[in-house]
Amino acid sequence: MREYLQFYIDGKWVDPVVPKTADVINPATEEVAGQISLGSAADIDKAVAAARKAFASWSETTPAQRLDLLLAIQAEYAKRQDELGVAIREEMGAPAGLAGGFHVGLGAGHLQAAIEVLKEFKFEELRGSTMVRHEAIGVCGLITPWNWPMNQTCVKIFPALATGCTSILKPPQLAPFSAQILAEILHAAGVPAGVFNMVQGSGAVLGTALTTHEDVDMISFTGSEPVGVQIQKDAAATVKRVGLELGGKSAFIVLDDADLVKNVTEATAGMMGNSGQTCSAGSRLLVPNSRMAEAKAAASAAAASVTVGDPTGNFAMGPVVSKGQYNSIQEYIELGLADGVSELIAGGPGRPDGLDKGWFVKPTVFITTNQTAIGRDEIFGPVLVMMGYDDVDHAVEIANDSTFGLAGYVNGVDHAACVAVAKRMRTGWVNVNNGFDFHAPFGGYKRSGNGREWGDYGFHEYLEIKTVLNGGV
Ligand code: NAP
Ligand code: MG
Repeated sequence: MREYLQFYIDGKWVDPVVPKTADVINPATEEVAGQISLGSAADIDKAVAAARKAFASWSETTPAQRLDLLLAIQAEYAKRQDELGVAIREEMGAPAGLAGGFHVGLGAGHLQAAIEVLKEFKFEELRGSTMVRHEAIGVCGLITPWNWPMNQTCVKIFPALATGCTSILKPPQLAPFSAQILAEILHAAGVPAGVFNMVQGSGAVLGTALTTHEDVDMISFTGSEPVGVQIQKDAAATVKRVGLELGGKSAFIVLDDADLVKNVTEATAGMMGNSGQTCSAGSRLLVPNSRMAEAKAAASAAAASVTVGDPTGNFAMGPVVSKGQYNSIQEYIELGLADGVSELIAGGPGRPDGLDKGWFVKPTVFITTNQTAIGRDEIFGPVLVMMGYDDVDHAVEIANDSTFGLAGYVNGVDHAACVAVAKRMRTGWVNVNNGFDFHAPFGGYKRSGNGREWGDYGFHEYLEIKTVLNGGV
């Protein structure tokens, strides 16, 4: 049992102003895995005051000083990778290999990217006699979700530190363990008091305290669309900058020259990774109508071969994060069965055979259209929908017929044709033939948000622009 009852404020571990605790449930066992304290607005006030005080000196440090700190954090992070992996497995149910591997690795990758960017970043530039400075925006509230806990946290904390900002992290109640360890890592690395602070608890209470706070300059939020909308409203009265990274229903287009079976197999298995709880998941798989029969066979075989079980064992997929998520996913599966349009070709309602405890979902695939709820909504579970297209124009039309605009995928042999399709997709991030780049800006069009994280673009989220006329003379 983990007991994480203190918050990290002003360089110290401190008790909550008003004592209140909550259990954290392991989604694989439904048993209590630990306890956290639930903070109140009074804890946020303390954390914001500490961050404001620290901002005066931290914003005046040189990039070289901040680089030294990031390198010290990197050394501490490396020491605690195994512990982080176990924490992530317990809090959100990712299989051990995934939790200790890609989950922890994404955090390390964003740290390394921040180090590389900081070495080169120009905080000041001259345009003739005009000086343009990129200055730390101030005190930042960082609000994160549970689905890739280290990724979401690290992609905010390190750019904030690197740019000279101070911050208050509000981790997800469902997955608070890894954030606690991360705060210990930052403390051990010697982050100056008040530069980073963390308060655990509810979004409705702490998130609102941050978004409405007079002395918070910026909010960086990753999470769902409805909460993103609320945050923008709450932050409006104090004219804060708000960076939003929201949901998606991203199209994965397999072009007609691609190896269909291989691509459908890999895209199906890939979508089930992390139990389908990935904002940028290719959750709408688009295949040529002329080859739908082959695609169906490949997708149903791929889904059936995804092993599901105890995250401490050797299974590809663990549970989803919570009972609430489980129920919501089951409702979507029932909607798909009842809508009169969708055809179930793998999985379906209930838990996989042999699992009667834990929030495990069957890897599920439907054939459907953009007109159904399962075709349009973000399900955020291991439920893939496949749709047929007639030609490339039709594929692009289906892909763009979404209120979201986070990600897209285009796979095919003719590279130029793939890139041409990528350019037509109304999304912030398109992946052609399975690329990966820690320095590539990531974020959404439309209702998928307005921010851009990762690499140097991620730094700009935390920077104000100042013009000094005649500053260069
Ligand atoms: P969520 O319910 O929106 O919660 C995200 C965070 O916001 C949590 O820490 C939550 O606190 C907090 N929160 C809740 N209400 C709030 C309020 N009124 N004011 C301020 N903060 C509040 O999202 P989730 O269910 O954790 O995560 C899944 C969603 O995240 C999906 O839609 C997914 O697509 C999206 N996502 C997007 C990206 C991206 O980069 N675009 C990446 C990953 C996930 P609690 O702990 O109390 O819930
Ligand atoms: Mg939620």
